[in-house]
Amino acid sequence: MVVYNAMETVVNRMFEEFQKTYEMSCDCQICREDVLAIALNKLPPRYTSSDKGLLFVKGEYISPQLQSDIMRELLAAATVVAQNRHHV
Ligand SMILES: [Zn+2]
Repeated sequence: MVVYNAMETVVNRMFEEFQKTYEMSCDCQICREDVLAIALNKLPPRYTSSDKGLLFVKGEYISPQLQSDIMRELLAAATVVAQNRHHV
């Protein structure tokens, strides 16, 4: 059985949307991964088997409450990363 955190998939997709409207001070891979890691640490994980994960991504992905929670955490994470860059 394959178990994974469906929240990762959702947040990854939302992050692509987020980057269309928010200009990150640096959008290299290190900073993008930092933002994702920080946001994912703040959001509740949704461990699930692969079939149910697909349902979660399709269903709850469009929940306005979850969507705004994720956007809020992405914005907060992007702000933190902009102020604490892990590279020169
Ligand atoms: Zn960077």
